Amino acid sequence: MTVPKLIPCSLLAVIALVGISSGSRAQGGAQAACGCTQQDKIDLESRTKQVDAAIRELDRMIKDWEGRERGAGQKLFLNEELRGVLMRDLGFSMIKDPKAAAYGADTDPTCAVTIDPKATRCLRGALEDHEAVHKKVCEEKKSPNPFVDFRSSQRVVDYLKEEKEGYQKERSRLTSDLDLQKKNCTTVTQLDKSAQQQLQQLLAQRERLRDAKNRLEMYGAKVN
Ligand SMILES: [Zn+2]
Repeated sequence: MTVPKLIPCSLLAVIALVGISSGSRAQGGAQAACGCTQQDKIDLESRTKQVDAAIRELDRMIKDWEGRERGAGQKLFLNEELRGVLMRDLGFSMIKDPKAAAYGADTDPTCAVTIDPKATRCLRGALEDHEAVHKKVCEEKKSPNPFVDFRSSQRVVDYLKEEKEGYQKERSRLTSDLDLQKKNCTTVTQLDKSAQQQLQQLLAQRERLRDAKNRLEMYGAKVN
């Protein structure tokens, strides 16, 4: 008689604990994590490494182009073909974890931002922060003529610095997303040993109390 009552009770306690701790939770106005899946973690870590590599490569490119300007004795400007070459070289340095997802984003000459609609919440945030840097520069510099791309007259070094700022903004977002994930995404399997022992002790104690109560009730029923 007592067993069927006790099992659901213990299970409920465990289910409640798993339910509370496995998802993302926001308490007291704290920010929730962008996602709590293993894939989200892989994606955020892979993108962080890619962004770090991009920043290192951009630092190298900025030095290189500053040197070229000194050699030429004049400012050097971007064109669409050169931009393509620079972006391709930058892309080569950004090695992605094959298990990680990645999505594209772009700000066009009219300053409209496009982000791959399939992008996950975790990766979308970083891409939005990156593109916001381009959008801001675009709004300041865009030509009133919609057929003229302001980038065709942008100094190469300025463009590379703008790109670096985009990746730095992205890096801050990725770091805070990873922090929130560490803080707010926990699963019952990640409970430390002492917490697991406490939980087991609590459940065992509850069962013993129930048993004792039931035995007393049965005994009482008999004497009455
Ligand atoms: Zn960019």
